[in-house]
Amino acid sequence: MAMERTYIMIKPDGVQRNLVGEIIKRFEQKGFQLLAMKLVRPGKEHLEAHYADLAGKGFFAGLIEYMTSGPVVAMVWGGANVVKEGRKMLGATKPSESAPGTIRGDFAIEVGRNICHGSDAVESAEHEIALWFPEGVTEWNPSRNAWVYEN
Ligand code: GDP
Ligand code: MG
Repeated sequence: MAMERTYIMIKPDGVQRNLVGEIIKRFEQKGFQLLAMKLVRPGKEHLEAHYADLAGKGFFAGLIEYMTSGPVVAMVWGGANVVKEGRKMLGATKPSESAPGTIRGDFAIEVGRNICHGSDAVESAEHEIALWFPEGVTEWNPSRNAWVYEN
């Protein structure tokens, strides 16, 4: 069982559409552990750093405009295989390919307004956590773990 951390972000459209509670609820109900959370509105440079690997894409300028259009909710969630499981919960990048029951499948229609972000690998998760939470994240022992994990 790989205990991991992942960076999950509710994008400006998710905040504007009052989906913050719904998205947090899903991660809480699953059994994952909230390690950090804040509402922030970072500038262009910060978002360009976050999406640096997409800098060559035709949609990059639009993506940065979208992501800087309002506040986002930045979060760190922990748990077994939370990076891969978190991506499953978000659904495919394109909501049209996201299964019903996933966040994007249930609440989004277009790829350019897909309401949430989740790290795609353990390495990128740690990189994104450092970028969004340079102040560090809280450590705490969830008392419910005996009811979530067998060992
Ligand atoms: P993710 O990891 O599932 O978020 O997907 P990517 O890392 O490939 O892309 C990052 C974000 O860029 C996506 O979540 C979308 O918001 C946006 N994006 C990706 N592909 C496209 C596209 O073809 N068109 C537009 N408009 N946005 C895109
Ligand atoms: Mg990605």
